[in-house]
This record gives sequence, C-alpha cells and structure tokens, in this order.
Amino acid sequence: MDRSDKKYTVEKIKERILQIRLEVIPGCPTNCFIIQGIKRDYVVDTGFGTETAEIIKQFLPKDKPLLVINTHHHWDHIWGNCGFKEKDIIGHTGIVKRMEEKWDIALERNRKFVRGDVEKRIPNILFDSIVDLKDEGLFLFHSPGHTEEGISIFLKEERVLLAGDNIGDNEEEIIPNLESGEEKYREVLERYISLEPDTVLSGHNNPVGMGFLLKIREELDGKKKGDF
Ligand SMILES: [Zn+2]
Repeated sequence: MDRSDKKYTVEKIKERILQIRLEVIPGCPTNCFIIQGIKRDYVVDTGFGTETAEIIKQFLPKDKPLLVINTHHHWDHIWGNCGFKEKDIIGHTGIVKRMEEKWDIALERNRKFVRGDVEKRIPNILFDSIVDLKDEGLFLFHSPGHTEEGISIFLKEERVLLAGDNIGDNEEEIIPNLESGEEKYREVLERYISLEPDTVLSGHNNPVGMGFLLKIREELDGKKKGDF
C-alpha cells in the first residue's frame, strides 16, 4: 500500500471554517478543522501524525499565530500534535492523564494508521469548564459524553458547533460511544440544542444540522422507554 498517497478532501463550511476530511481508517473518515480567527488561527484536532499536520498546514495563513485544539484524547485526533512544534495546544484538564495512560497501547494497536512521524505532545494549556475567546467570537466548553474530558467549540456569529466525537459517526449510528454514560451526555446534548446551531461538525460524520441533535434526543428517549 502506498502510504504517501495523502487522501483527503477539503470543504469550506463557512467563510472562516475549513473541514479537512482524512481517509486513513477504512470506512471511517476523520475530520480536522481550521478556524480563522482575528488574532490567531485555530486547528481543531490533528489526525494521524506529521504527514497529516503538513496537509493541514498548507491551508493555514503563514503569518498568524496558531492555537491547536484537541477535542479529546483519542489517538486519531491527537497523533498530529507533534507536527505543530512550538505551538500551544489547548485541551480539557483531564486530557493529560488520559493521553499518558492510553498513548502506548493506542500506538501499539493502531500503528498501521500512523502517517509520518508520531511523538507524544500533550496540551500545555488546560481548562476545566469554559474558555470564552470573546474577541474571536468563539468559546470552548467541557462536553463529556463520548469521553470524559471531551470539549466542544461554538462559533457565535456563524452558529457552528464543533462537537468532537459527541455526534455519532454516520447516519446509522447517530449516538456515539458514551464513556461518560447517557445521563451526562444528555445534559451536554441539551446544551448543544440550546445553542441553536445552524451547523454541527464532528470528528467523523458529515456536517449536520440541528435536526440531527433532535434525532439523537429522540433516540435516547426511545431507548429509555425500551428499557422497561
Ligand atoms: Zn473519539
């Protein structure tokens, strides 16, 4: 297999939001995002190694400071961190422990998906609840569900929600794997819905809308009834 074959597609979601969809895991595309801010630009998730980082970098303006955002600790979202040398990386406080715990085993199990070099780079800027970057028109907030330390990003003006892996991977699996359990996820889902997003972006699915969030809620409700 030719691993230098960089398969990806790029989609402009809004004027300042780019989705880079990486085809590395068969049948499961992985999305990274670029958000153009005023003071700096943002890369949301970094994919599979330095090769992925290079793919992302070609779409970044060279002259602006950059902040990398890790939505959660899973390997398919953080292996490219090392390709953003000397750049700050932000994540939830809980990501440090999770990355330390899971790094070796994830690398061992999924080595065939490494693209370029991979080296552990843990976020150096951490937060617990919310980071409101008012001047940039966006905020980051803790959103447990798929993982305990997951975070989401909301762009106020564009009404775009970046939900990490808190949205199921495709049209069939609309509820994601829930490490934090349904109750916590349900709370986060209500928060998502209250933001009234126009577009919801996630780690693996296509861009979806508010209707998708309502469908998840319906399915969760249905599951509850079915439990009796
Ligand atoms: Zn994940």
